[in-house]
Amino acid sequence: MRAVIFDWGGTLTPWVSLDHVAVWRRYADVLHPADPAEAQRVAVAAAEAERAAWLRVRDHHTAFTLEQVLADAGSPYDDAALEALRLGYDPATATDPEAAPLLRELRGRGLRTGVLSSTAWPAAWHEAVLRRDGVLDLFDGCVWSSDLEWTKPHPSAFLAAVEAVGVDDPADCVFVGDRPYDDISGAKAVGMRAVLVPHSDIPEHQRVPVNVEPDAVIRSLSELPAVLDGWAS
Ligand SMILES: [Mg+2]
Repeated sequence: MRAVIFDWGGTLTPWVSLDHVAVWRRYADVLHPADPAEAQRVAVAAAEAERAAWLRVRDHHTAFTLEQVLADAGSPYDDAALEALRLGYDPATATDPEAAPLLRELRGRGLRTGVLSSTAWPAAWHEAVLRRDGVLDLFDGCVWSSDLEWTKPHPSAFLAAVEAVGVDDPADCVFVGDRPYDDISGAKAVGMRAVLVPHSDIPEHQRVPVNVEPDAVIRSLSELPAVLDGWAS
């Protein structure tokens, strides 16, 4: 093994279920501060457009951005409103306290580390979160699908992450994620080993039944080094 690549939401960051209309309302309130009814209409339209985009991720693995959500919702792209939106997501961004010690342990073993996330957020938002929590410098490469054409489980997303951590062969990489379809089946399809951390409350409309066996299952990130030890022996 030469690298370990992690999913972000629900894996490096414990999953938090949000009220997406309420979060988009923060965006809409900046656009329509004096018109609560219009702000609510915009918030509902944006949340519905985002939900539809996630359905396209589920069914077609097409990546999308917040700009595309706003265009689909017929709402203008506004920097101040986006900043309000970003702050609305803050409660769902805390990095698992086990992440930093784990990443240091992996790097101490000479392994490369990376992130591959299916996300609409711009890379800068994710990097700000990782920097805030003191882990950004512990990754050799981070790939956010908002910069890609395809999300997980599309092979090209995984291959982009393998390249980002500077490894040639996916078989030299382990992927750690919380979703059997997106993470485990996608990683195994390109020849990576796959470790499942099955503790997320994945939204029903984002689930895909899949018959795939992870190479290991861990209940917390701190269990990963023992799994790697088992493969090395
Ligand atoms: Mg996840």
